[in-house]
Amino acid sequence: MAQNPPQNPATMTTDAGRPVGDNQNSLTVGPRGPVVFDDFLLFEKMAHFNRERIPERVVHAKGSGAYGAFTCSHPGMARYTSAALFSAVGKRTPAFLRFSTVGGEKGSADTERDPRGFALKFYTEEGNWDMVGNNTPVFFIRDPLKFGDFIHTQKRDPQTNLKSPAMMWDFWSLSPESLHQVTILFSDRGTPDGYRHMNGYSSHTFSLINAKGELHWVKWHFKTRQGIKNFHRESAAAMRGQDPDYAQRDLYDAIARGEFPRWRVCMQVMTEKQADACAFNPFDLTKVWPHKAHPLIEVGELVLDRNPENYFAEVEQAAFEPRNVVPGMGYSPDKMLQGRLISYPDAHRYRLGVNYDALPVNRPQCPVHTYHRDGSMRFDGNGGAAPNYEPNSLGGPAQNPAYRETPRAVSGNVDRHDHRAGNDDYTQPGNLFRLMSPAERERLIGNIVDSMRGVPRAIQERQILHFHRADPAYGAGVARGLGIEIEALLAAAAKA
Ligand code: NDP
Repeated sequence: MAQNPPQNPATMTTDAGRPVGDNQNSLTVGPRGPVVFDDFLLFEKMAHFNRERIPERVVHAKGSGAYGAFTCSHPGMARYTSAALFSAVGKRTPAFLRFSTVGGEKGSADTERDPRGFALKFYTEEGNWDMVGNNTPVFFIRDPLKFGDFIHTQKRDPQTNLKSPAMMWDFWSLSPESLHQVTILFSDRGTPDGYRHMNGYSSHTFSLINAKGELHWVKWHFKTRQGIKNFHRESAAAMRGQDPDYAQRDLYDAIARGEFPRWRVCMQVMTEKQADACAFNPFDLTKVWPHKAHPLIEVGELVLDRNPENYFAEVEQAAFEPRNVVPGMGYSPDKMLQGRLISYPDAHRYRLGVNYDALPVNRPQCPVHTYHRDGSMRFDGNGGAAPNYEPNSLGGPAQNPAYRETPRAVSGNVDRHDHRAGNDDYTQPGNLFRLMSPAERERLIGNIVDSMRGVPRAIQERQILHFHRADPAYGAGVARGLGIEIEALLAAAAKA
């Protein structure tokens, strides 16, 4: 907010520009009222105020955003992609990043145990690239058909209107593919210290395509240069009361101070041949690609150096969508990605209206030539007098075959294939558990026990068996914390 208001402020007006003579007193019959219908100013103010809220995002409602840029540092990206933002070392592409918590409402506390959204928009000269990721490399489910069910468990109980650990653990214990993400969520990284001290991941696999049409599968990693820093359960809980907007304040203040947060931008790549030979499905969103087999390749740096001027205009109205990739990039067979390709623009059309892409924060910074016209809140020139159909003989924008998608072969029977059949849900969560220090394991188990304490016994037992399959020490630790005899549980499970 400006500290020193200007000496000669502009004359206030109504929305229609009529100068306002008195913004303190309603128009009334005598000093004691009543108000008369002629009070255009009062009614305009009340009507606008009543309409200030737009639908809250169903997920990722609470967020913070900032502008910055990506600078390419890799001289050999042409091997992987023809995307313009990677075309030269030192090439700078403006970007906007919105961080968020996922399950809570717009007023929820920033230090809740929750994944964090890490949604980037790169304004490239060939359109926007939206890298709509999280601070975790995996997700709870691998089939988008389960997304609504899963999110309901993170929201409020339909009767009590309270968050319900019983709903969460019921769903997770019946969905073993969630174990990897559950392990990350209940580790120290489930309560990051603000947004500057965490990594970002595309989580999904995407593709990079070079000028020869050759394809590599890719996963994006954004490694914080500030260092990983997390709250522990107790300090996160204390901060929820002390400063529910901790992460927003931390990000805004750091940028205002000139302490610009930075991330190393890295990728993991896999050839099509390697993907075919991969022991697990490399497009499964519940799996990572081990670093040893697919080491990180550093390709540049992302820096955030400018706070938005207006939160609603630039952060609340920001709309990201994984379908926004640029020439030289493509999608992958990840079914969760396909679900998101459809659902994100659908959510924006509902929340912001069909012309959401024309809002300043979402508008590409390159020329846009479409034949879309009209729709609610069309506040630009709507294409002016230019033709609104194609083909036309009026010189309107035309397709350019240079940008055709690279052909790709697919095969298989159309069916509702069982995504759990033959899938190993335990090795990778076990690997994560095993790489934690004894103190980190103790905190992980303590966080889980704290969350599961009031959950029905049958759900606790079902979930402990999953922890045990990932690593016996993991199962034993949670069982001990909940006062459950692990040997008896394992014996009963073996008989069942
Ligand atoms: P590595 O030892 O090469 O990598 C381990 C990774 O785990 C590092 O990226 C590290 O991040 C990250 N990590 C450490 N603690 C946590 C935590 N509490 N929550 C989430 N990530 C954490 O091993 P692998 O590549 O073979 O992977 C082993 C396991 O590490 C995986 O099963 C997975 O659970 C986890 N992991 C793997 C990632 C990958 O892309 N391969 C990415 C993130 C996690 P940092 O370097 O930033 O400290």
